[in-house]
Parts: sequence; structure tokens; C-alpha cells
Amino acid sequence: MATLGNPANTGEVLRKYNFSFQKKFGQNFLIDEHILEKIVDVAEIGDDDCVLEIGPGIGTMTQYLCERARHVIVVEIDKSLIPILEDTLSEYENVTIINNDILKVDIKALTEEYNSGRPIKVVANLPYYITTPIIMGLFENHVPLESITVMVQKEVADRMQVGPGSKDYGALSLSVAYYAKAVPVCVVSPNCFMPRPNVSSEVIRLDVYRESPVKTDSEDYLFKIIRASFRQRRKQLANSLANAPETGVSRETVQETLREMGIREDVRGESFTLEQFAALSDRLLKKRGNQ
Ligand code: SAM
Repeated sequence: MATLGNPANTGEVLRKYNFSFQKKFGQNFLIDEHILEKIVDVAEIGDDDCVLEIGPGIGTMTQYLCERARHVIVVEIDKSLIPILEDTLSEYENVTIINNDILKVDIKALTEEYNSGRPIKVVANLPYYITTPIIMGLFENHVPLESITVMVQKEVADRMQVGPGSKDYGALSLSVAYYAKAVPVCVVSPNCFMPRPNVSSEVIRLDVYRESPVKTDSEDYLFKIIRASFRQRRKQLANSLANAPETGVSRETVQETLREMGIREDVRGESFTLEQFAALSDRLLKKRGNQ
């Protein structure tokens, strides 16, 4: 099987299998060798690494990964791509192909099975319609991770790197800031994909912290508070939190806590730093039973 990663060979595989792209799965396959090499380079894949690739498509990037890693696990939702992957990856013995929805896969169990529970590297040209749940799911399910190197929509890469005060600031920004250091790699033109997407893309690497620089008594509660704060962006924080039953706090309790912290009662989530969210969350958690 020829090396993929250029339009001619990709086209040949698609014709051989009479493959038709499914928009609902966010299928835009990479056809640029420079970008493929760049992704595997910045992911720093070495021969002791176990890599998880989310959405391998026809196996283009998988071939590059298999050349460098000890083991590669790919999870692909589209069952019509499985026979293609078995063909394009037939010469590699270090690959495991799983036909499933990544959001339903127990990734922690895979790290146990293929890497004795040690941290793995995630590399992917992500399906753009579920970028946020994939990234936040990897973090919040405490999958042992060394890094996540992904192609995402440029606008989403921006959201991963901004701080308070920006219109792009939200739960994804805070999740990335809490769990990882974001390293932007390069912006990628729509011409590098087949079919061309309508938006620009960006490769970003997230180096996962062993321990977050921000401390909290409960990560679970912190992210309940963060999600609730951005569910109604334009509302004051006290109202957003009181309107979300899972926080278990009243408007008055939030306002009182903000006063104790020396913060204006009418503050909005979009101007709150990660450290402030952690401090608020710890205080609210303590008060929850005493209302
Ligand atoms: N990695 C390939 C490449 O770069 O050419 C394909 C990338 S394409 C942007 C996204 C891939 O993710 C597609 O193959 C699509 O079928 C797959 N996909 C979409 N949703 C998925 C899901 N929930 N779980 C696993 N794979 C998914």
C-alpha cells in the first residue's frame, strides 16, 4: 500500500473503496505531507510511546505514527472506514483499530491494556463538531496523558489560549488552563484537506501538568461551577450559579461569598480568573450544607 498524505494516493484509496465523505462525522482528510510531518514532529513521538489517534480516517497520519511509536491505538466511528484502515495499515503490527465513538470508549482502560497505565500521547486531526467534549472529557476523566497534539478549528485553538475579558473565554479555556500548558504550533490552510473545510485550522499541543498549578478542594465541583457560569454568559455570576441546580447554592450565598472575597456582587464569569473560580468554588463547597 502506497504512503498516503498526498492528493493522488488519497484519491486512489477513496476511489478503490468508493468512499463517500460523511459531513456528520466531520471528515476532512489531511493531504499535505509537510503538515503531517510537522504534527508527528511536534508531538515528539518516540519508540517507547503509546499513541491514541482519534478519528484516523483512511489512516494517513496513522502511517506516520506507526513508523515512530511503539504502539498506536486508533478509534474511528465510521464503520465504512474500517476495511480501508485494515488495508492502508496492513504492513504495521503495532496498531490496534477500534470501531467506536471516542466519547463512549473507556480510554483509561486502553492505557492500562496497552501502556500499563502509564501516560499516553494523543494525536489527532479532530472531528470539529465534537472538539470540546473530546478535550474536556480526556482531562476530566483523568486519562493518564503526557500530551495532546491536535488539529482544531483556529477559532477553537484561540478559545484554548485566552484569559478573562475575551469573548472567546469560557469553560474550554479554563479547562485547558487548569490541566495543561498550551503551545500553539501552526495555522493550517483549508487547502491541506480533502474536502476543503470552510474555516482555517490550527495545530496546538497541550502539555498536560502532572499537578495543576491551581489548587482546589474538588475539581469536580470547580468544573460544575465553571460550566454553570458560562451557560448564561451575559448573566451575573450569582444568578448563573443559583440557576444551576447542580451547584446547590443560592444567589444570596454566592453574593455573600463574593463580598467576603472582596469582589463585586455583579461580576460576570467572563471576567473571573481560574484562581478566582478555584477560591470561589472551595468557599461555596464548604457553605453548601449550611444554607
Ligand atoms: N485523521 C484523518 C486525517 O487527518 O486525514 C481524518 C481526520 S477527520 C477531520 C476526523 C475523523 O474523525 C473522521 O475519520 C471521522 O469519521 C472521525 N470521527 C468523527 N466523529 C468521531 C467519533 N465520535 N469518534 C471517533 N471518530 C470520529
